[in-house]
Amino acid sequence: MVLRHRTWIPRTWIPRTWIPRKSQDVVGAGGRQGGIRAAATIAARLTFERVERRYGSFHALRGFSLDIAPAEVVCLLGPSGSGKTTLLRVAAGIEKTSGGRVLINDFEVAGPERFVAPEKRNVGLMFQDFALFPHLTIRDNVAFGLKSLPREDAVREALAALNRVGLERTAGDYPHILSGGEQQRVALARALAPRPAVMLMDEPFSGLDVQLRERLQEETLQLLRETRATCLIVTHAPAEAIRLGDRIAVMRGGRLVQAGKAVELYRNPADLFVARLFSEINEIPFVVEGGALRTPVGTFVVPDLGDGDEAVLCIRRRSIRVHPPGHGLPGRVLHVKFLGDQAVLEIATQGFERPLITLVREGEEPPRGAEVGLSVDPESVLVFPAELPANGQPDASDRAAQTY
Ligand code: ATP
Repeated sequence: MVLRHRTWIPRTWIPRTWIPRKSQDVVGAGGRQGGIRAAATIAARLTFERVERRYGSFHALRGFSLDIAPAEVVCLLGPSGSGKTTLLRVAAGIEKTSGGRVLINDFEVAGPERFVAPEKRNVGLMFQDFALFPHLTIRDNVAFGLKSLPREDAVREALAALNRVGLERTAGDYPHILSGGEQQRVALARALAPRPAVMLMDEPFSGLDVQLRERLQEETLQLLRETRATCLIVTHAPAEAIRLGDRIAVMRGGRLVQAGKAVELYRNPADLFVARLFSEINEIPFVVEGGALRTPVGTFVVPDLGDGDEAVLCIRRRSIRVHPPGHGLPGRVLHVKFLGDQAVLEIATQGFERPLITLVREGEEPPRGAEVGLSVDPESVLVFPAELPANGQPDASDRAAQTY
């Protein structure tokens, strides 16, 4: 998320919605630590239809379409500047569209017919930096989005939400006493307290250290499942998207590149960019001859490419098997790198101009200089056209992609 989004916090970022008047109206939808239950919400379908967002001549969103089912958790993955935060802001209504439509439960909330104000959308938003108000107590931070309720009810709801995240004891304190993980939980309680039908989360775990991040990811996911809020979570990290998302939507340059279950994106990536997100791959350029790529690991028919076109043969590091010499393609180990549970081998391989990189279990690595044989399962090999941006120049999102 870019810094300018953190400079002010409009009240509309926190939804106000119907809240049951009595605590017994709060529906438990699943167990949580200490018998605490999350209040259930009524999930909504969230639909983007060819959404455009332009800033002058710059297209931050280009014809973005995606349909998110009620109670589904979708992770939005993409390099810096690809438009993820813009999409969330458009869904929340704090950014207007330049074209296309956003619908919640098939009702247009942004588009040619109408624009529904953010506070009327029943959408919750949670940010990377948690954006807690330092001058309010933790209880009042959580009660902030419940202003439509009588004070007494808002406080009771806020305490219930804090209870859900295990932080009721801090209610009277101010946010500065909290650790990063606790601030994340309070921000989550604040976003969920009004029971939004749709939760939008912008890199909610990025400020946390790795171990805490994994724990909070699990807890947050459990809470989201209990509340049954439809959820769109922005992340830079493919591993996080795999862990959290029922589906993953990959964006680049303001466009949806591919959406699907993690395993689908892993097995059948739409392009080289998606393939790179989900596997470490060897990328080897080849030229199409006679409608196929003729490579040392097999011949691959490429019906969409013409003779003379450049293509990239992708071999996942994990799908290369190392054998004693005399089996498979002849190779020689150029380099061995210890990586804990496994070792990375760089192997000069017959028929390939560049060495292939592969992984073996620690303790099974041949020494540097050893002659070996290599085999590759042709089923695991992917072939893509060599990527060339339309104008022949890499755009900002391509550059950012290289930072993964
Ligand atoms: P990051 O992962 O770094 O947060 P992102 O994918 O969320 O990036 P956005 O913040 O949505 O990307 O920005 C997408 C593009 O739109 C960027 O190039 C950004 O500079 C541009 N942009 C966003 N808001 C504005 C604005 N108000 N005026 C001009 N350009 C903007």
